[in-house]
Amino acid sequence: MSLPRPPLTIRMHADDNVAIVANDGGLPAGTVLPEGVPGGGLTLLEKVPQGHKVALEAIAQDAVVRRYGVPIGYALKDLPAGSWVHERVLKMPAARALEGLPMATVKPPAADPLDGYTFEGYRNADGSAGTRNLLAITTTVQCVAGVVAQAVARIKAELLPGYPNVDDVIGLEHTYGCGVAIDAPDAVIPIRTLRHISLNPNFGGEVMVVSLGCEKLQPDRLLPPGSFPIVDGRDASLGPETICLQADSHVGFMSMLDDIVASAKSHLERLDARRRETLPASELVVGVQCGGSDAFSGFTANPAVGFAADLLVRAGATVMFSENTEVRDAVEQLTSRAATPEVAEAIVRELDWYDRYLDRGRVDRSANTTPGNKAGGLANIAEKAMGSIVKSGTAPISHVLSPGEKLRPGQRGLVFAATPASDFICGTLQLAAGMNVHVFTTGRGTPYGLAECPVIKVATRSDLARRWHDLMDLNAGVVADGEASIEELGWDLFRLILDVASGRTRTWAERWKLHNQLVLFNPAPVT
Ligand code: CA
Repeated sequence: MSLPRPPLTIRMHADDNVAIVANDGGLPAGTVLPEGVPGGGLTLLEKVPQGHKVALEAIAQDAVVRRYGVPIGYALKDLPAGSWVHERVLKMPAARALEGLPMATVKPPAADPLDGYTFEGYRNADGSAGTRNLLAITTTVQCVAGVVAQAVARIKAELLPGYPNVDDVIGLEHTYGCGVAIDAPDAVIPIRTLRHISLNPNFGGEVMVVSLGCEKLQPDRLLPPGSFPIVDGRDASLGPETICLQADSHVGFMSMLDDIVASAKSHLERLDARRRETLPASELVVGVQCGGSDAFSGFTANPAVGFAADLLVRAGATVMFSENTEVRDAVEQLTSRAATPEVAEAIVRELDWYDRYLDRGRVDRSANTTPGNKAGGLANIAEKAMGSIVKSGTAPISHVLSPGEKLRPGQRGLVFAATPASDFICGTLQLAAGMNVHVFTTGRGTPYGLAECPVIKVATRSDLARRWHDLMDLNAGVVADGEASIEELGWDLFRLILDVASGRTRTWAERWKLHNQLVLFNPAPVT
């Protein structure tokens, strides 16, 4: 049995008047903080749970509480040194106005290119690269989901064993397609999301559609001629290859299944003929996000992801960060880091649109934090945002994508892909943008995974990594334990990304086949 660790507190910035308690299980009232840690010599006036904040000095009522060197709230009462600073004693600061922001003012020195890093991937006809070789069946409407699920089960059982180079067969099921106001301006978001997911680089350019027939989202509206690759020599003006369940030729349920299974064969043959080849790391499109965050997220896992993000950008790759409500309180950092004033304006445009979207629902960004976030020590969204934004590293922001948009050829570097913070919606939109590897940090723990793309899960705490030893792919808690630096862990993650992209390492979510559903962002009305 190992000895209990001495009391440990961690302060993020020299100006902070709070530090967080790092010890498993927190620290009891009466604990004297040892010299050498922030608040050394202080006595805790009450029990402080793990990940929660302790006042390092007396903080008067209405005075600012600082973490990460920025205000995360104002004291609702006098807080003596050594007291527990939690969400019920803090008033949240107002969101920064979107006027008068610093626009593209930070000009970091160009980082040295990182040459020579490669992975084994699948080169696609459109120039993109896949990290997995999947047959994905596009659906136009939820009505066909049950039929497609049975067809996929048959394809896996009857055909897939004969195509050993194909990793899996998946149905791209969703809740859209009918019962929606298809011509509402905001309907463009779910429609282009589905279109672009069909074209994700992990699907090898093969497009196979199952439609019902009478739905609002008709196949040629989902995939108009010119929006998808033609790999089988067909006439593009005919639209994508589509199996329509209401077609007169279908007599009985089995004829529908037989038709879908038969259509899958030519796609499987072409996919099976592909081989992994050595590709530069610049072909990676890595989406980063967090879910089930705690106070550790901002000083272990997310900074390590940020360090790896900088390495990826230096290697010429694309890194997408997202989650509008979790970057809103850091908007100044984003607009100032934009590579050009146009990029800064696009960031403001996206966040302003999202403020108004939330306003329509009579909430604001503060609706983001969960009971688990608060139990984990995050007092409010201002504190959560500062810990979330560090996932983006330090590179200039090169491009901005609206929800459901896809990266255009040549768009590389650090990209802000505007999305809600909801884990599955963010993941779905990052898939549409062209993500081929997903990095996901969690403090409270979530078994999240996607069928379309490998998901590397990074635990913020060693306790979580120990308990969920067969769900977490990397333990960033070693930073809090003093066993590794952010730099060491960032390099570990960078190498793990290359291994996972190459198929040498399967993530835990892949091994257990943990697949969350696609969840569309539909801000438009349903009918
Ligand atoms: Ca999230």
